[in-house]
Amino acid sequence: MDKIKMITPLVEMDGDEMTRILWQMIKDELIYPFVELKSEYYDLGLEERNRTDDKVTFDSAYATKKYGVAVKCATITPNAARVKEYNLKEMWKSPNGTIRAILDGTVFRAPILVKGIEPNVKSWKKPITIARHAYGDVYKASEMKIPGAGKVELVYTAEDGTETRELVHNFTGAGIVQGQHNIEASIESFAHSCFKFALDTKQDLWFATKDTISKKYDHTFKDIFQEIYDAEYKAAFEEAGIEYFYTLIDDAVARVVKSEGGYIWACKNYDGDVMSDMISSAFGSLAMMTSVLVSPEGYYEYEAAHGTVQRHYYKHLKGEETSTNSVATIFAWTGALRKRGELDNTPELCAFADKLEQACINTIESGKMTKDLALITSLKDVTVLNSENFIKAIREALEALLKD
Ligand code: NAP
Ligand code: MG
Repeated sequence: MDKIKMITPLVEMDGDEMTRILWQMIKDELIYPFVELKSEYYDLGLEERNRTDDKVTFDSAYATKKYGVAVKCATITPNAARVKEYNLKEMWKSPNGTIRAILDGTVFRAPILVKGIEPNVKSWKKPITIARHAYGDVYKASEMKIPGAGKVELVYTAEDGTETRELVHNFTGAGIVQGQHNIEASIESFAHSCFKFALDTKQDLWFATKDTISKKYDHTFKDIFQEIYDAEYKAAFEEAGIEYFYTLIDDAVARVVKSEGGYIWACKNYDGDVMSDMISSAFGSLAMMTSVLVSPEGYYEYEAAHGTVQRHYYKHLKGEETSTNSVATIFAWTGALRKRGELDNTPELCAFADKLEQACINTIESGKMTKDLALITSLKDVTVLNSENFIKAIREALEALLKD
C-alpha cells in the first residue's frame, strides 16, 4: 500500500512522562507505516521548555496560527515539586494556558463511546460535548469578608472620572461579598468558537445561563450569543439541519440527563468546570475523553483530556510493565489528521483517521483493552494488555480495516 501523502504540515507538540512514551509508540506503530507524516515538531517536554525559557511553547502556538492544526501530547504543569524534580529555572506556566491565551480558544471535550463501557446515565447513546468558557466570572473575582454593619456598593469610574454606583447590600452584621466580571470580547470569541464547532461537527448547540435571576450579567451572555447567531450563523445552521437552543441552566441539566446525547453543551466558566467532571465520570473514563481547542478564527489544537499519567511513568522507569490507555492520545492524532485532510481537501487522510478510530473501538469491543477499561467494562471475555501490546493490537485491527 502506498503511504498517504500530506500537503500542509501539522504542528506536533510533544510532551511529558508516560504520554511522551505513548506518543512515540503511536507514531511508530500507527502513523509512520501508513502516512507520510508532515509535521513541524515542537518539544514541549518540560526539559526543553526550561532550556528555552518556555519560548518553545510560544513558538508552537504561533505555528498553530500559521498552519491551522496542531496535535498536542499531555504536558506537566510545574508546581513546587516539579521545580525541584526537574531543577527548573522558574515555575513555568501551564502550556495549555499559554496556548489558549495566544489562540483565544474554547476547549471542547467529548467522550469516546464503545460497547462494553456503558455510561451511568442509561439514556445516553451519543457523546455529549462540553464547551467551557475559560475566562472570568468567579475565577477572576474579588472577594471581601465584611466584618460588621455597613454598606457595600459596586462603583464604576469611567475614564473621564464619572462614577456609577449600584448598591450590593446594606449589611446590618458580618457577611461576605464578591465582585465578578467578564468582557464582551471574550464572550464573543466563545460564541464564535461554539457556533463554528457546531457547524464543523454537525451537532446542535445548547447554551444555558441563569438570565432570569442575573438580568444584566448572565443576560448579556444570552444576548451576545443570540445576536451573533442571528447575524452570522443562522442560515448556515438551517442549511446544515442543526439547531441553536438556549435555555436556563437548571432546565438544561434536567434535559441533559434525560437526553440521548449527540450535541454540544456550551457552559459558562463555573458551569463548565462542574459539568465537565460530571459528564466525563458518568461516561466512564478520563482516558476515553477527547479535547480540542478551537479558536474563533478557526485554528484547532487536539489533545487528550488526561494528564501525563505520572504514576505509570515511574513504573515504566523502574522497568515494570504498564497498562496505560492510549486511546485519547490516538484520537488527538486522528482529530488533527482528519481536520488537516478537510482543510487540504485530501479525503484519503480523513478516511485513514476514521479507520484508525474504528480500529481503536474494534480492539476494545473485541475484549482487548488496558487495565483501566478492564476494571469498568461489562464485557465478559477480556484480555488485559500492556501499553505496547494494546497499541500493537490496534495496529492489527487497523491493517484489517485498511485491507477492506
Ligand atoms: P493524570 O495524568 O490524568 O492521571 C491521573 C490518574 O488517572 C492516573 O494515575 C491513572 O490512574 C488515571 N489515568 C489517567 N490517564 C490514564 C490513561 N491514559 N490510562 C490509564 N490510566 C489513566 O493526572 P495527574 O497524575 O494528576 O497529573 C500528572 C501530570 O499531568 C501533572 O504534572 C499535571 O500537570 C499534568 N496534566 C496535564 C494535562 C494536559 O497536558 N492537558 C492535563 C492534566 C494534568 P491509576 O494511577 O489509578 O492507574
Ligand atoms: Mg474542575
